[in-house]
Amino acid sequence: MAPRVVKSGPRLTEYLNAVKSPEPLFGDVQKHVLDKAAKPSGRRQDVIHPSEMVKSDWCHLAAYHRLLLEVEPAEKRKTTFTRENIFEEGHRTHSKWQRWLTEMGRLAGDWKCWYCGAVFWNDTTPAECHQCSAPPSCLEYAEVPLNAGPLRIGGKADGYSPHDFALIEIKTLGLGSLRFERPEFLDRYTVETDHGRLPDMTRLWRDFRRPLPTAVRQVQLYMYVANHFEDLPVDRTVFFYDFKPTQETKSFTVTFDESFSEPLIEAAAAIIDCLQTDTPPFCNINGRSGCPSCVEFKETNK
Ligand SMILES: [Zn+2]
Ligand SMILES: [Zn+2]
Repeated sequence: MAPRVVKSGPRLTEYLNAVKSPEPLFGDVQKHVLDKAAKPSGRRQDVIHPSEMVKSDWCHLAAYHRLLLEVEPAEKRKTTFTRENIFEEGHRTHSKWQRWLTEMGRLAGDWKCWYCGAVFWNDTTPAECHQCSAPPSCLEYAEVPLNAGPLRIGGKADGYSPHDFALIEIKTLGLGSLRFERPEFLDRYTVETDHGRLPDMTRLWRDFRRPLPTAVRQVQLYMYVANHFEDLPVDRTVFFYDFKPTQETKSFTVTFDESFSEPLIEAAAAIIDCLQTDTPPFCNINGRSGCPSCVEFKETNK
């Protein structure tokens, strides 16, 4: 069989060279993004974050140390450009849904004025800045702070609709995020094809019928804090999921159930007791030898 010949010409050569050459600007962008990721997160360290509390490896001793020292653990956060790109895409998806809800006047929460720096609460889309009367184009939605002061729990929900008595959570689902967060779910939908093992994204999306379990635990805790500490009446959380491969969307509802969060609330109260009596709790993950999270604090304390 004669080899297939592609006629060479100035156009083709140019194209092949462009594809081949490592573009310095592309490399510079990647370096810029990774440098940004390496800087301290600016996340509050004087509170316990609900996102940590709902993890199966949440260590009470590590939480105690962090509240005591109020410093970010000196962990070396491993990341890649792809991972940072997934996070950024997640932020963009948040902004999109929040903008739609803002246009509808259905979003309550904190608003930040980029003109004077004020942050103020409003039950609907504000007509102007409460402090300097700057127009809405200067205002940005700053989400819903959820703090349980006495327990030093502090978090933020993506949205709150007073009209619906609902918190709002916005999620993206894509091949990349599934690879990081739910590899076993992705595996279940990976099939043999003529081109090797590939995920069947159509079936995966069709069968995706409820939010991920950690997301459910987290919103239950948010709803507990909203009702008991923030005076925001909430009886459910509405999830909006964006499916990256096809831009299809789904919505789920999770009804408030107090009993879900009670063990976590008790654990937080016990950590506060320990802080008041200056007695570190035991590592609830790995006993005396400690787990990776609290051992790291031991090392930073030396
Ligand atoms: Zn202002
Ligand atoms: Zn531990």
